[in-house]
Parts: sequence; structure tokens; C-alpha cells
Amino acid sequence: MCTNNGTTATTTPGRATASYLVIGAGTCGMSFIDTLLTHDATATVILVDRNSQPGGHWTKAYPFVRLHQASCYYGVNSLPLSKIRDRKGNERFNVHDLATGQEILDYYQVVLKQFRQCGRVQFYFKCDYSRNERGEHIVTNILSGEVTKVTCNKVVAVHSNVVVPSMRGPPFPVDSNVNYAPLNDLPKHIESKKYKQFVVIGAGKTGSDAITYLLRNGIDQSAVTWITSRDVWYFVRDGLWKGYKSYRKDTMKLINPLLKVNTLHEAFLEYEKSGFMARIDPSRRPQVFKGPTIDKEELAGFRSIKHIVRMGRVTQITDNIIILEKGNIPLHNPAETLIVDAMADLDGTFYGYSNFPADYQVFKDDQINIGPALIVYNVSCSAAIIAYIESTFADNQEMKNSMLYFGRGDYCKAEEESYFNQFYCQCKTLKAISGYAPAANFVVNSRTYLDSPCHHHNGTLGLLWAMFGPSQLAKKADKFVEKVENGSYADCKDCFGWAGRQLPEPKELKVKEKSKVKSNYPHGNKSTKFRCCASADVVEDVTKGASVQEYDDSDTISEHDSGVANDSFKNCDDNSTEAIELQVAKST
Ligand SMILES: Cc1cc2nc3c(=O)[nH]c(=O)nc-3n(C[C@H](O)[C@H](O)[C@H](O)COP(=O)(O)OP(=O)(O)OC[C@H]3O[C@@H](n4cnc5c(N)ncnc54)[C@H](O)[C@@H]3O)c2cc1C
Repeated sequence: MCTNNGTTATTTPGRATASYLVIGAGTCGMSFIDTLLTHDATATVILVDRNSQPGGHWTKAYPFVRLHQASCYYGVNSLPLSKIRDRKGNERFNVHDLATGQEILDYYQVVLKQFRQCGRVQFYFKCDYSRNERGEHIVTNILSGEVTKVTCNKVVAVHSNVVVPSMRGPPFPVDSNVNYAPLNDLPKHIESKKYKQFVVIGAGKTGSDAITYLLRNGIDQSAVTWITSRDVWYFVRDGLWKGYKSYRKDTMKLINPLLKVNTLHEAFLEYEKSGFMARIDPSRRPQVFKGPTIDKEELAGFRSIKHIVRMGRVTQITDNIIILEKGNIPLHNPAETLIVDAMADLDGTFYGYSNFPADYQVFKDDQINIGPALIVYNVSCSAAIIAYIESTFADNQEMKNSMLYFGRGDYCKAEEESYFNQFYCQCKTLKAISGYAPAANFVVNSRTYLDSPCHHHNGTLGLLWAMFGPSQLAKKADKFVEKVENGSYADCKDCFGWAGRQLPEPKELKVKEKSKVKSNYPHGNKSTKFRCCASADVVEDVTKGASVQEYDDSDTISEHDSGVANDSFKNCDDNSTEAIELQVAKST
């Protein structure tokens, strides 16, 4: 039998049974299980992963990797990741709060502990999943070869296929004399002081992290050559979000330009003007956008690199020449040059965010296919939403699929439009889900949802004010959707492949009969409407050292934020979820 550290009783040697078989203990799988266990009190799970621990690609990441989006909304709904909390324990949105790879792995160990404590999850790590010719679910221990046949009602498969440099060899021929290493090895090579020149291949998040690491560790920019096969757009996190209190106002800078422009490309140019989007060379139009997020200091570092090679992809490295699609560059001192492999997502699957066939279905037969981003660049929340739908709505696949919009077919290339495609899909998915008010309530109160009141100044009322107050965020989002659907953006075709599709009628959304059993997950937590941070093991109050301006949560919405001096917003209570439910229901 495979390594099984779980406690569910339904296991006999060589056989295991559960209601769900989840393949993949990465962010998607962990988030799915967390919400499933919370909302389906009777669900049992078998979790299989070929790695020895949860965390997916983070287990193979380079040692200096960090999240590039704020920690407060990454991971699972029941457990906080961010270190910045208010006095109630709510995680604060802060663009500089980026968990390290190790912190993410430690976090998933705690999530695993929660799974174990509820007694409804069996784990099969270091095991491969496959389906045999009879269609049976086979779990094979990679070390011992032992096989377990799994019986389950549904299989949950993660389709993101993230491949980072340390998971593969060089993707082109490299002469054996060449010093070639994945960026994972950079710390030890810098420390050795053996190399005088560094050539970094890759311009996305991974490549740009390699460049920043070199510069921050004392390597002079003149010693760095950067091979960027195509120019890239970067989000500049501190270019948009100026601070905790101004989050809602800053976010309007994302949506307002969309209502003015006639092409999606113009929106990128507007974002660039406001400092939220950047490219290394403003005279070149980037061909790629996958959502890499940097800060202003990193951008300045990139721009200080003088040797940027734009000759297409590398095709071969001989002992003294790097051969590219459109030319060669000589290696003048090969013995003292390190070539750094910093190419992630080589096959262009876009980290699985949105590269799915046109006929891809999340709910299909006895399988649930997770991975697509229903929420912009947020697989944590997307997987949680899918689990919520699975555990809440009647077993009608057509109905469940009708609520979900995500990038697919020809419309999800990793280019400028992919961002708007994801935003369109987010608007549509949330609108569809809102047909059932408790579902809207679930999303809004999920810690994995960036806009959740728990992360922001003035909580629920702050969100309501942004949505339905003078800023009219809800109306503006509708207007953007309308512009996409009536063809007002010249460079946006067929509503990103969803043309003609209607949102489900609220009355079509049939829910399951509610179970009388209360969920025992997360273990030891009293049921709370506001699950965010409910089960924090350690609450580190870093707010003490921070400026009052940034973290004081006792304030009211300021005149500046709201446009009015408003006493009624005093003591804004994050628990006023009914208000939000009502408003969302009213607006749909
Ligand atoms: C460097 C980097 C930084 C990123 N930063 C962010 C960020 O800041 N914010 C953000 O939202 N996203 C970020 N992403 C995007 C990232 O893809 C997601 O955050 C997320 O981690 C992907 O998780 P996943 O579960 O989809 O895939 P994975 O992490 O790849 O997990 C899939 C798991 O499935 C297992 N598996 C697959 N098939 C089988 C099988 N047949 N048998 C057994 N096991 C199997 C694999 O072993 C793996 O553990 C980043 C990505 C990279 C590469």
C-alpha cells in the first residue's frame, strides 16, 4: 500500500475509498479541498501527489522566490498566510508583504495538519496517479512500486502543469563545457565568486527575479547579459497601490481607463502612464504579458542592464557561442561565465492560468477539472469557488458549468488582452454566481478574494462604498462587460470566445439539500461567518512597528476617500455581510 498518513477508516490494503480523489497538492488542489471540507460536512478525500509534501511547484522553486502578489489572498480560505494582521486577526493588504517559497511550504504543512485533524483526508505523497485500461484509478508509490486502487465518486484533476527550470534539463543542446545552471543554484555560484559574467535567459517573473537577485547581491550590471526573446509588460505593484487606506481609490485607476479607450492596447498605455504597468524599453511594444509583478526599485534595476539581447529564443549553446533564432553572441570568457536558466512556462501554457481548449469543461462526467483562473491571476480563489459550487449546487453539470467563465481556445494567449480576458471572465463568473446570494457572500468573504473587506480599510462598508457610492465600481464593471460584448474595443473579438453565451437565470441555480451534519473542518474552530483568519496558529502583530498611518484600523472613511465626511461609517464592522449580500442581490 502507498504511504498513507491520513486517518480516514475506509482503507484496506491495496484499496482506498473516498468521495473525492484529488490529484495534486499544489495551490489549486489544497484550496479546493479546504473549501470542500468546510462546505460539505460529509465529503472525504484521497489526496495524491508525486512530491513528498504539499505546495506543488513551490517545492521546486529557487531559494529566493517570493510570491509576487500580496500574501493576504494566497493559499486556502481557512488559514492566513500574511504576517500583517489587524487587532481582529484580519490580514491586511500590503503590496510589500510577499511570502517566501519556504513560508508557503510551511503554510501548506499547517493546512495539511488541519486536513489530518478533521479525519476526512487520506494522503498519498510520493505517489503517481494514473488510470488503467479498465478506467480504474491507480495510485502507485514512486519509491516502492506498491499500488492502491481507489474507488471514488469524483476525480479532481489539476490541469495547470507548471514547469519551473529545476524540474527539467536545458531545453536546447548545451555543450558539456558550458557552465549552465537553473537559477536555483545562483546563491551558491555568487558565493563561490567563480564567475565574472552572468548570462540570464528569460524575461518573465523568473528571469526578472534572477536579475534582481544578481544586482542585490553585489553583481555589477555591466557583468550581466540578459537574453529576452520577447519584450514583456510588468505590473508595478507599488506603482498602483500606494497604501492600505487608498486601495479602493487606487483600484479605480484600473477600471476608469477601460471606459475611455477604444482598444485594449490603449488601456495598457494608460496604465503605463499612471505607473502601474511598465516595460523595460518604452520605445518597444511588448508581445508578452503573463502578469509578472515587480516594484519600482526592481524596474530601475532592469533598466540599468545595458546588455539586453533581443534575437529571439536560444536554440543552442556551443562551448563559446550562444546561438539564437536571429543571431549569435560570443562567449568571450566561457570558463568564468555562468549561463542562468530562468525560463518558466516554456510551453506557453501560461502557468495553467488560462490556456485551455475551447471545449474545456470544469465539471465533466465524474471529473472536476481545476486550474483555470475564474478570478484574475488568482488560482487560490478560483479553486475555492469551484469547490463551493461543487458542494452547494445540485449535481447538474450543465448548470454548474454555466456559471464559469475562464480563458480558453484562441483567446488566452499570454498577451495584453489576456488580462482583460481574465477580468471579463471574473465579472461574468461573479455575476452568474450572484444569482444565488449566499454564493456571492461566500466569494466576498473569502480571504483568497483580493477585494474581500477583511483585507481593506473600512471593511464591508468600504467595499459597498466603492461599489455603489460615488465611484460606482459595480456599474463601471458592467460597463466594461457591455463594451466587450458590443464590440467597442477594436482589438477584442467574439467576447474572448464567449459571444452569445447567456448567464444562467437565478432560478436555474438549484442548490443541494442542506446536510444536517455540521462540518468538523477546520478542526477546533467555532463556525464563523467570516472564516478569514479563523484558524491562525500564530498571529504576529507586526502592526506595532508600522506607522499608524498605514495600519491603524480604528479610522473612519476619510473625506478624501469617500467624497463626504461621514460619521455613519464609524466603527465599520466587518461582519455586516448581510448588507453586502443584499446589495449584490439588488444589483444583479
Ligand atoms: C515562480 C512562480 C511564482 C508565482 N507567483 C504567484 C503569485 O504570487 N500569486 C499567484 O496567484 N500565482 C503565482 N504563480 C502562479 C502559480 O502557478 C500558482 O500560484 C499555483 O502555485 C499553481 O498551483 P497548481 O496547483 O495549479 O499547480 P502546481 O503547483 O504545479 O501543483 C500541481 C501538483 O500536481 C501534482 N501532480 C500532477 N499530476 C500528477 C499525477 N499524475 N500524479 C501525482 N501528482 C501529480 C504535481 O506533483 C504538483 O505538486 C507563480 C508561479 C510561478 C512559477
